[in-house]
Amino acid sequence: MEVAIVTVGDELLAGRTTNTNATWLCERFDERGVRVERVTTLPDRVADIARVVNEYRAEYDAVVVTGGVGPTHDDVTMDGVAAALGRPLEEHPEALRWLEEERGYAREDLTEGTAHLPKGARALHNEVGVAPGAALEGVYVLPGVPTEMRGMFETIADEFHGELIYREVVVADEPESALLDRLEALRSQFDVTVGSYPGDAVRISIQSENEAQTEAAAAWLSERTERRDD
Ligand code: ATP
Ligand code: MG
Repeated sequence: MEVAIVTVGDELLAGRTTNTNATWLCERFDERGVRVERVTTLPDRVADIARVVNEYRAEYDAVVVTGGVGPTHDDVTMDGVAAALGRPLEEHPEALRWLEEERGYAREDLTEGTAHLPKGARALHNEVGVAPGAALEGVYVLPGVPTEMRGMFETIADEFHGELIYREVVVADEPESALLDRLEALRSQFDVTVGSYPGDAVRISIQSENEAQTEAAAAWLSERTERRDD
């Protein structure tokens, strides 16, 4: 499966909030063998959300949108997703029933619009906060508060699956430029994807869908690189 992640919030674009939701979701998808093809951050603006969600749902198997969910004035994500799907927002009886029966809220205590979801959506219950999420036509809308987002994602995680990827990391204590020939030889001899990440030392990530192939490639490179003793 290939998915796109859309994180919504002016505060993310201003650098006031670190986008831990995107990283956390990328990790969950990676460990399930689901390929994340896009991570996009958008302002709290209906037209931008509608345009990008529409583009991504045509391109990928699923789009996961987080942030800007709820009844306050700057929470416009549901409006954007509804516009992308050409559906109105309307009160979701099952989401309201769940909040009343399972969480003990009286309807009059809930801010107007709390349970408004795109028409025809499946409600995703929020075990941690209040605002429900929504799922329809491959688009999943989750809250922005990280604990709420994580809790809700766990309820839908099994809907995402893919080919398991085997990964090995070789740490080379050499300049990246000195490794180029060996990395090229590695790629021509083994059917693996190779990533090179310089920093203090160079981390070379080797991955493929074949465990034996991945291990053989990592062993081949390990024997041919200067290793740090750690
Ligand atoms: P609420 O219903 O409580 O308003 P929400 O779904 O509307 O939640 P936001 O208003 O977008 O979510 O964000 C609520 C808080 O969650 C933000 O103040 C921020 O601290 C955090 N948050 C939002 N998006 C992210 C993100 N991508 N990564 C990490 N934290 C985030
Ligand atoms: Mg909000």
